[in-house]
Amino acid sequence: MTSPRAEPPTRRAFLSLGSNLGDRSVHLRKAVDQLRAGSVPAVTAVSRVYETAPVGGPGDQGPFLNLVVELAVPAGTDPYQLLEQCRRLEAAAGRVRTTHWGPRTLDADIVWIDGVELDDPDLTVPHPRWRERRFVLAPLGELAPDLVDEADLAAAGGEVRVVGML
Ligand code: ADP
Ligand code: MG
Repeated sequence: MTSPRAEPPTRRAFLSLGSNLGDRSVHLRKAVDQLRAGSVPAVTAVSRVYETAPVGGPGDQGPFLNLVVELAVPAGTDPYQLLEQCRRLEAAAGRVRTTHWGPRTLDADIVWIDGVELDDPDLTVPHPRWRERRFVLAPLGELAPDLVDEADLAAAGGEVRVVGML
């Protein structure tokens, strides 16, 4: 008789990473490396890199580079641990919070966690604006076509174009 597999169950989580200040691709690469350096949660996929027009915030800020990372999060993980991880990535990139939605070295947002819905002031999951933002929907659709509606993608705001892989 074969014994059941002992691997713990995981859920998919998707983070959106964006940068429009300093060396944008270096900020993204370092953040993904930092995620890969920790074994839990595991990075299971990384989208292509998109150059995207800023949505909201001051009108004079430069374009972003954006991507989406897929993680395998152990079931039962507190979503706030993931938010802490996002904040550590931003801190490591030297992010300074000035203008709301202003330029930033790194923005790390939780877009989606399978089976998780949260509506707290500090953490809303799914992210409150993900379905209106092409810079989230386009890279997310590469990794999770089940989550991205083509009509939402067409209706979403903000120009995006693929500029390559990380
Ligand atoms: P934005 O991502 O909207 O451009 P910030 O990065 O400055 O703005 O985030 C502001 C706050 O949003 C964070 O301090 C965090 O507590 C909160 N927040 C709420 N939901 C989420 C989420 N799903 N992912 C990341 N941050 C979130
Ligand atoms: Mg953010």
